[in-house]
Amino acid sequence: MIRHDHIDGAALHRMIRDGRLTFAGNRRLKIFGRLDCRAGRRLARANRVFFTSRSEAERSGYRPCARCLPAAYDVWKSTVKSGIQIARGPVAHQDRATDS
Ligand SMILES: [Zn+2]
Repeated sequence: MIRHDHIDGAALHRMIRDGRLTFAGNRRLKIFGRLDCRAGRRLARANRVFFTSRSEAERSGYRPCARCLPAAYDVWKSTVKSGIQIARGPVAHQDRATDS
């Protein structure tokens, strides 16, 4: 896991271009999603982290974004015991819900 505010822009772009970073996450919400997710792009830099794989994100305790990884989100949701937390919490890896 790489924190956006702990890596310089050139190194980051090189890793994305080389396909070494495939998912981005919200460090505060512990939600990860695709790099091109519109919800993820609205993240504050300090809250954004990058992963090299989906399994790395899951191992780090992050769950899938409902917006850009709906199938993975459904699987995750069905494996969670309590539905209360999901209903109340944000579903996408953004800082705030700006659209309904
Ligand atoms: Zn997303």
